[in-house]
Amino acid sequence: MHAPRVRGVYHLHTYRCRHARGDAVHYAQEARAAGLQRIGVADHTPLPDGRWPTVRMQLAELADYEAAVESARAAVPELEILLGMECEIEPAYFGWYRDTFLARGYNYLIGSVHFVTVGDEELSAFGACRSVEALVQWVQRIRQACESGLFAFIAHPDNIACGDPAAWTPEVAAATREVCAIAAAHGMPLELNALGLMEGRGYPWRPFWELAAEAGCHAVLSTDAHRPQHTARGLSQIADLAAELGLRVVEPLTADRRGPDGAGPRPHP
Ligand SMILES: [Zn+2]
Ligand SMILES: [Zn+2]
Repeated sequence: MHAPRVRGVYHLHTYRCRHARGDAVHYAQEARAAGLQRIGVADHTPLPDGRWPTVRMQLAELADYEAAVESARAAVPELEILLGMECEIEPAYFGWYRDTFLARGYNYLIGSVHFVTVGDEELSAFGACRSVEALVQWVQRIRQACESGLFAFIAHPDNIACGDPAAWTPEVAAATREVCAIAAAHGMPLELNALGLMEGRGYPWRPFWELAAEAGCHAVLSTDAHRPQHTARGLSQIADLAAELGLRVVEPLTADRRGPDGAGPRPHP
C-alpha cells in the first residue's frame, strides 16, 4: 500500500489551552508553507463547569478563539481553515457541545478520552487505564461517542496503555478489539497521532493498530500540534506507518463538513 498524501490536518491547538503556543494564524502560515490545503483548529474545549481548568481554554475565551480562526481565514485565504474543538468524551457535556459548537456553526468536533472515572477516582487515560473497571469505562465512552453523532473522529484512541509492552494484557487486547469493532461499525475514524510518535509517548501503539486494521477501521492522520512549527511534523512518518499497517486513511472534513448529520468519512482519493 502506498503512503497516502496528506492534504489536511485537523487537530491543532492554540495558546489558549495553557500548554500550547501560537494562534490560528501561525498554524495557518506553517500549513501553507508545508503545502497543506486545509487545516482544522481544534483546541481543548472549555467546559461549562470549569472542570480541568489548567489544560484548556476558559469559557470567556471562546469568542476570541472564534475570532482568531476567522482572522486566520482572512490572513491566509489560500488555505481552507475549519473551526473545531477537541472535546472530552463525557456524555454529561454532549448537549452542551451540540448547542455551543455545532449549532453555532463549528465545522466539527474531535472526541478524546483523557480521563476515566472509576468510583471516585479520576484516572489518566494516558497509561493508567488498566483495571477491568477502567477498561469497561473506556469502551463505554468510545461507544457513547460513536452513537452520539457529535464527533468527526476519535483522537489518540491508543493512549490507553501508552506503549508499555507489559500493559498489553488479554484484558486490554479484548477492550481494544471491542473499541475497534464499535468504531468500524459506526464508520468512526480513529486518529493516528504524530505527536505521540515524535515525542516518544508510546503511541501510536502498534498492537492497537494491528487490531484496528484487522477490524477495518479508518484512520485520520494528525499532528496534534501544540507549536506552530509542528503543524506538519511527523505526517510523512505516520502516513508510512498507516501504509505499513494496511490502514485505510480518510480525510473526514472539508468545507462542506461532516457535521452531526453529515455523510460520514470521505475516502482519501
Ligand atoms: Zn493538548
Ligand atoms: Zn490535542
